[in-house]
Amino acid sequence: MLTSIEGKSVIVTGGSKGIGRGIASVFAAQGAKVTIAARNEADLQKAAAEISGDVRYGVCDVSDWDSVKAMVDGAAEAQGGLDIMCANAGAFPQTKIVDMDPAEWDGVMATNLRSSFLCVKACIPHFEKAGKGRVVLTSSITGPVTGFPGWSHYGASKAGQLGFLKTAAMELSRYNTTINAVMPGNIYTEGLQDLGQEYLDTMAASIPLKRLGAVEDIGNAALFFASDEAGYITGQQIVVDGGQIIPESLEAIEEI
Ligand code: NAP
Repeated sequence: MLTSIEGKSVIVTGGSKGIGRGIASVFAAQGAKVTIAARNEADLQKAAAEISGDVRYGVCDVSDWDSVKAMVDGAAEAQGGLDIMCANAGAFPQTKIVDMDPAEWDGVMATNLRSSFLCVKACIPHFEKAGKGRVVLTSSITGPVTGFPGWSHYGASKAGQLGFLKTAAMELSRYNTTINAVMPGNIYTEGLQDLGQEYLDTMAASIPLKRLGAVEDIGNAALFFASDEAGYITGQQIVVDGGQIIPESLEAIEEI
């Protein structure tokens, strides 16, 4: 049993859908004050109304500094300070290198990697004021561990988050703040559903636990990193993938 995070002030970017919504639900269920952030206000409104607990929203483009800073400052003011930032928003368009427009590469880097830097930077004054803080990044197995055709930009951005993490952990220690990353495998979300049933079925068959992950599986890992009990862990990452990266070959998975 982890020490309660009841009353803690939390931001979850990308909290209107998928994994972010799952993280927000897990924290809200534990009694935290949660701000979910994304670009589409209608989706945010709907999610904030549907997640039970103390949940509000902030419209924000995580790739834009002014937008991130305004959202973070607004959430801290509304929630009486800031304890935990879950920098989760991300995008995963699938385009092979040969067909990729350089602008698409830049867009994915901005949404997935620049956003990690912007979210951390915006939180520092609040963590400094509080004398402590927690950051949890949502990275991926794709990039740091695995590859998939069409996701060169995505994989690079997700590996880049882990590179950012190491130095950020050192710099944030000055503010008594930890930063860690969750690396999801294939988690059942709206974004993943867009890739089609065939993709979902093939993926489930390649996972030792024989199912896609649930968004709460990632929320629970984020909750651990945000807990008092994880206070001496920083600059680290955990894979949450049902064992997906373990099999050495197709034969290995068929042997089960
Ligand atoms: P999703 O269902 O597509 O949801 C993405 C969320 O991010 C939405 O709330 C979206 O809202 C928000 N978002 C996207 N671009 C944004 C921007 N520029 N500014 C602010 N918010 C933005 O995606 P998901 O599957 O939950 O993925 C969430 C995170 O998990 C991503 O970082 C992804 O890389 C990572 N991940 C997912 C999986 C998986 O299997 N699903 C696996 C590994 C890692 P708006 O569009 O309204 O802005």
